[in-house]
Amino acid sequence: MAKIQMKTPLVEMDGDEMTRVLWKMIKEELLSPYIDLKTEYYDLGLEHRNETNDQVTVDSAHATLKYGVAVKCATITPNAARMTEYHLKEMWKSPNATIRAILDGTVFRAPILVKGIVPYVSNWKKPITLARHAYGDVYKNVEIKVPGPGKAELVYTAADGTEIRETIHEFDGPGILQGIHNTEKSIRSFAHACFNYAVDTKQDLWFSTKDTISKKYDHTFKDIFQEIYEQEYKAKFEELGIEYFYTLIDDAVARVIRSEGGFIWACKNYDGDVMSDMVATAYGDLSMMTSVLVSPSGAYEYEAAHGTVQRHYYKYLKGEETSTNSIATIFAWSGALKKRGELDALPELTAFGEKLEQACIKTIEDGKMTKSLALISTCKDPVILDSLGFIRAIRETLDTLL
Ligand code: NAP
Ligand code: MG
Repeated sequence: MAKIQMKTPLVEMDGDEMTRVLWKMIKEELLSPYIDLKTEYYDLGLEHRNETNDQVTVDSAHATLKYGVAVKCATITPNAARMTEYHLKEMWKSPNATIRAILDGTVFRAPILVKGIVPYVSNWKKPITLARHAYGDVYKNVEIKVPGPGKAELVYTAADGTEIRETIHEFDGPGILQGIHNTEKSIRSFAHACFNYAVDTKQDLWFSTKDTISKKYDHTFKDIFQEIYEQEYKAKFEELGIEYFYTLIDDAVARVIRSEGGFIWACKNYDGDVMSDMVATAYGDLSMMTSVLVSPSGAYEYEAAHGTVQRHYYKYLKGEETSTNSIATIFAWSGALKKRGELDALPELTAFGEKLEQACIKTIEDGKMTKSLALISTCKDPVILDSLGFIRAIRETLDTLL
């Protein structure tokens, strides 16, 4: 078979530790033999981020805006221990935060379903994709611990000096206070990302807030979504036979549990934080979650939802056997290749991405898997493979599918 040719390069963001090891294996075993891989390579490994004063992260994000599709390996977010371990000049920011700030994106997370790994919610048959707004609310709050009696007010001073003033509470003793905000711009780009993603993946979009209680704050989210839907997406949704549906967050929770999945659930920042952990856990395992950052400008960055699997990496360095699940990282590549194929009108590239995903799923369903998957699988006698052995097993399956 001749290698598949690409037109536009993928932005390749290499990363750290065990996922960096898997990254190389995936390229060597599952990609390079089949594709004449074209990438613009950015080394986001912590050492190189440190050498470049983190400029490489910024450059990789700008390249994503330029080319439209990136694939990212998990990366270390430095903390005090990493400062010493890697002799860092500074405690560099989380690469994901830096990239998100430049792409202004919304993160969509979806589980990879395989037979034998049964969701805890028995009626869930299809994946539920969680779309989390990643700006503002309680994550950018201002808080006061109220020491004693007094009046708390909410004051907004306009550029021309005029004021809007509301009494929050007349305290007759100690208490607590919190100020939160969001911006119309950020809510609008969140809405566009959600509607675009629904169109892209041909799935219904659910959105939920608590607008009955929060009549201005949450209601603004609801109104902006509704306005954008009607003005820009309604016709497209109707054409595709998909639905936009708004409901209260508590009603949404009940409906999600009773549903069979197969839709996108858009949530405000806090709801998304909590609900994405619930949904991921209920589907089985973080190492089976895909994650894609979609910018309102239409750029896509694909990655795994898990981290660099540090504990496995230290075993690997000592020469011990590791059995790390590479599925989510492979799906980051397949997602990026499928998108590149779609944008560049290269159906063979898209088809390859699909085959690669089928090969991953079939390998596990045939009983060949890594240790962590064997622990949660209902498969009778699973064959437990090491990190490279699992990737090679996927390659064997892939060869039978191609
Ligand atoms: P982690 O890398 O997600 O791993 C936590 C544990 O989950 C592992 O020790 C392992 O459990 C299990 N696990 C996760 N992914 C797995 C896989 N693919 N196969 C098998 N087991 C898997 O989280 P962490 O250890 O808290 O973080 C390590 C580093 O990753 C940190 O420096 C953090 O900053 C970074 N991080 C990066 C991202 C990102 O780039 N998107 C996200 C999160 C964390 P067992 O050890 O029990 O086998
Ligand atoms: Mg969380």
